[in-house]
Amino acid sequence: MDNKTFYEKFDWASFKYDALKPKVEKVLISIPEDVNTILDVGCGNGIITNVLGQNFEVTAVDRSAEALKFVETNKIKSSADNIPLESNSFDMVFSSELLEHLTENVLEGTVKEIKRLSKKYIFITVPNDENPDKLLIKCPKCNYIYNSPSHLRSFDLKKLKALFAEYKLINSFTFGKKVRYYNPAILKLKRKFTPSTSWIPYFWIDKSKRKTTCPKCENEFENEYKFNPITTALDTLNVLISPKKDYWLFAIFEKE
Ligand SMILES: [Zn+2]
Repeated sequence: MDNKTFYEKFDWASFKYDALKPKVEKVLISIPEDVNTILDVGCGNGIITNVLGQNFEVTAVDRSAEALKFVETNKIKSSADNIPLESNSFDMVFSSELLEHLTENVLEGTVKEIKRLSKKYIFITVPNDENPDKLLIKCPKCNYIYNSPSHLRSFDLKKLKALFAEYKLINSFTFGKKVRYYNPAILKLKRKFTPSTSWIPYFWIDKSKRKTTCPKCENEFENEYKFNPITTALDTLNVLISPKKDYWLFAIFEKE
């Protein structure tokens, strides 16, 4: 299954405003005062977009027709790396929890489009320096291993600054609930020596959210959890050495 099918089949209604309210409020108060027009790239089901639309002139872009059904602002169905709009059309280009989902090629094209369409500001939010391998699932049918929320990469401030190197960083901060990092060396041991059914315990992702679709073979299954003492020992070791971090990283850039 390609990514396109994956995001059409995604349960967009499961993203609810209440869960994201603190984040939406933080976004609103962080927008520079001279912004009137906003382009929201990778708007998903519009939880943030629709609130932005009450305060600004907003255009939203997503490649999922299913996701766009929830969006109440101007909207365009388009891939983020090839947006059919004129250069420098928006005071601010906003993109929240998009970049971590993109393959290398699409990421490169998307960053180019964000820069091309922004007249002045770029506002990015991503998970804060997470280790996406923390939430690995193995498909029981084809053995493909993938990250549960489809995160392909992670960013810290240094990486974001490198992506937008010709821009000036005017504000950045981390925000949100504290989530524990997973040490890559311990994770390697876990992957090698323990069964995949023990990798994600129920206190990381609860039973109601365990339904998943393999991005490789489209197998829909429930990611069962089975206790394993070695996994638990490794997870405990990780708790002792890995810090908890705020879940999100926000960065606002200005064209120089
Ligand atoms: Zn599979």
